[in-house]
Amino acid sequence: MAELDRTKRHAPAPKDWTYAPAPESRDVVRIAERYGNFVGGEWVEASETYATISPSSEEPLATVAQGTEADVDAAVGAARDAFANGWSELSGSERAKYLFRIARILQERSREFAVLESLNGGKPIKESRDVDLPLAAAHFFYYAGWADKLEYAFPNRRPRPVGVAGQIIPWNFPLLMLAWKVAPALACGNTVVLKPAETTPLTALLFCDVLRQAELPAGVVNIVTGDGRTGAALVEHDGVDKIAFTGSTEVGKAIQRRLAGTGKRLTLELGGKAANIVFDDSALDQAVEGIVNGIYFNQGHVCCAGSRLFVQESIYEPLVEKLKRRLTTLRVGDPLDKNTDVGAINSAMQLEKISSLVQSGVDEGAEIYQPPCRLPEKGYWFAPTVFTNVAQSYRIAQEEIFGPVLSVLAFRTPDEAVEKANNTPYGLSAGVWTEKGSRILWMAQRMRAGVVWANTFNRFDPTSPFGGYKESGFGREGGLHGLEPYLRFDDGNES
Ligand code: NDP
Repeated sequence: MAELDRTKRHAPAPKDWTYAPAPESRDVVRIAERYGNFVGGEWVEASETYATISPSSEEPLATVAQGTEADVDAAVGAARDAFANGWSELSGSERAKYLFRIARILQERSREFAVLESLNGGKPIKESRDVDLPLAAAHFFYYAGWADKLEYAFPNRRPRPVGVAGQIIPWNFPLLMLAWKVAPALACGNTVVLKPAETTPLTALLFCDVLRQAELPAGVVNIVTGDGRTGAALVEHDGVDKIAFTGSTEVGKAIQRRLAGTGKRLTLELGGKAANIVFDDSALDQAVEGIVNGIYFNQGHVCCAGSRLFVQESIYEPLVEKLKRRLTTLRVGDPLDKNTDVGAINSAMQLEKISSLVQSGVDEGAEIYQPPCRLPEKGYWFAPTVFTNVAQSYRIAQEEIFGPVLSVLAFRTPDEAVEKANNTPYGLSAGVWTEKGSRILWMAQRMRAGVVWANTFNRFDPTSPFGGYKESGFGREGGLHGLEPYLRFDDGNES
């Protein structure tokens, strides 16, 4: 028998392509049983605590502090001392050394951080490994570069630090949001009290170890964990000069009301309901990849997720067909498996919110599609979902779902696309798919969104400012613009 025939007989082509498990090892991470708050460079024992879990297994991971008003007060006191006693007077080049060190340590320990991020937050390891960690380190590198160049960045304006920054971050990109906030604050000479989200405190707590390794002076960064009450105590503390908040529009509005008339600076990065617009001249297969990345990346727990897909009518059917076919290849499951595309929903509460909004879509008359996939029994899971036959007025086309749920709508002309895309209270991001450069520019000028991606989606870079219009908030993070909220200017033109 010929060699070729024998090979054929012994290795028939499999009918069903399934992946063998490829789990990332957890051994690289050591989680303590119990964590206090990190105040003045020391761990301070907590008086109140709660358990933080893994959303993919519901397994308790550690006991962490439920920060009280007294804990927040101690952290703000430590940050004030550190600001007054050295940090704000340090030269920019000295501050830069610490930031460069932090960036390098994050790179060195990236595997450890990535595993912990996926364990505590539920996102696929390939995302925390390839997106969250490299970007977090890149933010520290980028702002380290600005620390000694502020006079050149803002010529003739004599930039000075604002003071103590209170920073409140959400659970969708725990370490990356920390980096977005801490790096520019330190580069500008401020000190920080940061509150991570209730469900995802562990990478922020591991970051305290990085701060010690980098020998950052005590009190420059303080971390107090806890729920919304801890965040509220930070917002209300008189010793805080600036609040930087990322989270829901509802809490953002409440914070803005609390701060009105106090003179405290505020930046808000809130929700979104981004339009991803596909014209009939675009490369359809490439667009499908962008659509999938736009809404199923990080289980759709992304403020700038492309959750409303607008498709030009002439390609509506082929595009939806391709999209559905692509969905059947998404692998949902264990976040620590290197093959996983869609991980666990971050919390039981978020799962409930997604489920109820999806039910509203069905009740209002939209057509639902979910690919066949077996979801694990334990943990919080939601299958990738596409809604067609969606009207602009449906809740699934109006409200931020913050889950792996896409609403597909159609348009005929570019004007109609602009009008429909802008018909939302939000304005964080948008995507345009077309092969015509002139159309990209025409659309970008008309979209009321802080970021407009062309023939791509969900691309982030520390050099590029990010932030919203309308109910998506105000202020920019990233780039040169991201320095301004952390500076006051002697020329009187505060940003
Ligand atoms: P929140 O806005 O409540 O959470 C963001 C952060 O603010 C968390 O650290 C939170 O603490 C804290 N916080 C909560 N209440 C207060 C308060 N009164 N004062 C100060 N800080 C506070 O978002 P949720 O986690 O409740 O998510 C709800 C919805 O918000 C999601 O379904 C999603 O639609 C949207 N969201 C949007 C985000 C975005 O980036 N645009 C990010 C996260 C959520 P704690 O963790 O205890 O709640």
